[in-house]
Amino acid sequence: MEITTTVSETRSLIRQWKKEGMTIGLVPTMGFLHEGHASLIKKCREENDKVVVSVFVNPTQFGENEDLEAYPRDFHRDMALCEEMDADLVFHPEPEEMYQDACTFINITDLSDNLCGKTRPTHFKGVCTVVGKLFNIVTPDNAYFGQKDAQQLAIIKKMVMDLNFDVRIVGCPIIREEDGLAKSSRNTYLNERERTAALCLSKAVKRGQEVIAKGCNSNDVLQEMNEIIEKEPLAKVDYISIVDALTLQPVEYVERPVLAAMAVYIGRTRLIDNFIYGEEPAEQ
Ligand code: AMP
Repeated sequence: MEITTTVSETRSLIRQWKKEGMTIGLVPTMGFLHEGHASLIKKCREENDKVVVSVFVNPTQFGENEDLEAYPRDFHRDMALCEEMDADLVFHPEPEEMYQDACTFINITDLSDNLCGKTRPTHFKGVCTVVGKLFNIVTPDNAYFGQKDAQQLAIIKKMVMDLNFDVRIVGCPIIREEDGLAKSSRNTYLNERERTAALCLSKAVKRGQEVIAKGCNSNDVLQEMNEIIEKEPLAKVDYISIVDALTLQPVEYVERPVLAAMAVYIGRTRLIDNFIYGEEPAEQ
């Protein structure tokens, strides 16, 4: 497995592989890898000749008072997992290598206005910019993203269409702990009591999945989901919404594929979870 830290060494490796007719798959991550990331790497391994994993805690997607400094990092453990998953290249640049004195950014309108975009107004600009840059550096045939970050996945798909990136975007299902909590690098912030409290998210997802049905009123579903979160004293809802799965605009009646998404503070940790209704589930 190769490790690169600069754009130029990454490009020359990719150029070599492309010359040899290899297909390239990319899994963008912020590191502190867990089984959620591993599932993306596994899928990428199955579908491509060469597997590239980027490990980069992207400063531009963190807001001013967010957890950039505190974000968990363990590059050695990440390397071991990438090696175990048979990745070919890990791209691990420093922020200076990625941004230098950059003043060009990718901004996506509409889809980034609601859900997580409300509380994190600059987040998706940072995400689109770094993912766009990674697409230009790695020029992957396929790129793998988790349904866990449903808004991010929808936004990346739209960006690829709007800007004509020549890459296929593959969405992968949410990987959960045995008790239902969606795996996340941020779960390490939770103390024991908060870890138990955090189960209210997956319980609300489960309840939502039970009560949602074609033709039903979104508010009825949201009320049931809210009730579960409200029972948990350590939880504070940031948002729970039902939106069109493609446009991410609120829907009143569930008549077409929808995304039911939420962000909930457990203590000071903001966690997200979601489910899609009415669409083929992401490939396993
Ligand atoms: P992150 O390192 O948090 O930026 O995540 C990198 C990629 O892994 C994103 O596409 C995430 O959606 C995906 N991912 C994170 N957690 C999970 C999970 N529990 N299940 C599936 N994919 C995940």
